[in-house]
Amino acid sequence: MSKIVLKNLAKHFGAVKAVDNLTLEIPAGSFTTLLGPSGCGKTTTLRMIAGLETPTDGEIWIGDQCVFSRREGRFVPAGDRGLGLVFQSYALWPHLTVFENIAFGLKIAKVKKAEVQKRVEETAEVLQIGELLKRYPNELSGGQQQRVAIARVLVMRPQVLLLDEPLSNLDAKLRMDMRAELKRLHSEMGSTVVYVTHDQLEALTLSTHVAIMDRGTLQQWSPSMVVYNQPANVFTADFIGNPRINLVQGVFKKEQERFVFAAPGLELPLDVSEDLVRLVGRPVTLGLRAEDFTLSTTPAEGFLAAEVESVLPAGSEWFVRVRLGELALMTSTTYDPQVDSGGTLWIQVKPEKMKFFDEDEKLIIGIGSTYGRKEVA
Ligand code: ATP
Repeated sequence: MSKIVLKNLAKHFGAVKAVDNLTLEIPAGSFTTLLGPSGCGKTTTLRMIAGLETPTDGEIWIGDQCVFSRREGRFVPAGDRGLGLVFQSYALWPHLTVFENIAFGLKIAKVKKAEVQKRVEETAEVLQIGELLKRYPNELSGGQQQRVAIARVLVMRPQVLLLDEPLSNLDAKLRMDMRAELKRLHSEMGSTVVYVTHDQLEALTLSTHVAIMDRGTLQQWSPSMVVYNQPANVFTADFIGNPRINLVQGVFKKEQERFVFAAPGLELPLDVSEDLVRLVGRPVTLGLRAEDFTLSTTPAEGFLAAEVESVLPAGSEWFVRVRLGELALMTSTTYDPQVDSGGTLWIQVKPEKMKFFDEDEKLIIGIGSTYGRKEVA
C-alpha cells in the first residue's frame, strides 16, 4: 500500500488555474474521492498523479518515491509509476474475448501462462464476470463491459488505483450495484484508491475520505461523513447533501443572559459559550439540513407554526417545503406528515444540528465541534 502526497501542486493552462497550490496527503489504503463541480480541477489532479499531465509547480510522492518535483526537475513517466487507471470511457479490444482483454497487460508484462490463467480467473470471479470470459465485448451489456475494464486494471494488482468517473455511463441501479462492488473490492485488495466524481452521493457512499475542490482549490479534506456533518465552509455545506442545505442569513444577538440567532421569520435561542460574544451583532449564516427539523402535525411547545408549500413523498421519507414568514425551508420526515399544500405543520430545529458560518463563510459551530458550544439539551 502506498500513500500519495501532493505538495503545493499547481497546473495552469494559460490564465486558467485548473489546480492551485493543492496540498493533500492521501493515506495508504484509503478510498479517497476528489469531489467538486464541473471544472473544479478533479480530473487534472488525477491526471497529474497518473503522469499524464505535467504540473506547473509542486511535488507528487507515491509511497516513498518522488514521481514529480518541479524544483528538482524530476518527472517519472506514467508507465513507471505502478498505477492502475480506469477512465469514464473504457475501450475494450473488440476483437479479443473478455479473457484476452483482461489478460492483455499481463501478457505484455511477460507473466507466465499458468499465472495469467490463474489471475484472470480470480479477478473475473471477484467481479462476477467468470461466466463471460469467452464472450466478445459486443456481446456484453454496458455494466459488464465496465466490469471487464475494471478487471483489466485490477488483474495487474496495482498498489494505487486511479478511477475517473468510471460509473457515469451506467444506469442508476447498476451504478448502485457497482458502488457496492467497488467498495467490497477495495476492502479485499487494500490498494490506495483515488476516485474522481462530481456525484456527491457516490462520494459519500464509496469513500473513506473526501477532498472537496472548487475552482482549483481544496475546500475540505475529511473522512466522508465529516464533510456532511461538519462542512468546513458554506461552499461545502451547499455542495454536499440532497436536497440542498437550507442557508439562513441572520445575526447573533445577546438578550439578557441568552444568545439568540435572529433572522426574518425565525428566532432561535442558543445555548452557546461566552466565546461567541465577539460575534454578537455580526452577520452569520445558519445551515440546516432537511432532516435537522422535528415536525409535528399538532401544536407543541417550542414548535413554530409553518405553512406547508409542497409535500414530496420519496418512498422512505417525505420532503416538506414550508414557509416561515419570509423563509422557505426544506424539511423532511420519515413518516407520512398527512398534510397537503396550504396546510400547517409545527416545526422545531434540532439544536445540536445547527451549523453556523461566519462572515468569511467558515464553520464556527457544527456537530461535534468543541468550539463555541456548551452542552445542548
Ligand atoms: P469535470 O467534472 O467537468 O470533468 P473537472 O473538475 O475534472 O471537471 P478539469 O477537467 O480538471 O475539471 O478542468 C479544470 C479546469 O481546467 C477547467 O476550467 C478546464 O476548462 C481547464 N482545462 C482542463 N484541461 C485543459 C486543457 N488541456 N487546456 C486548457 N484548459 C484546460
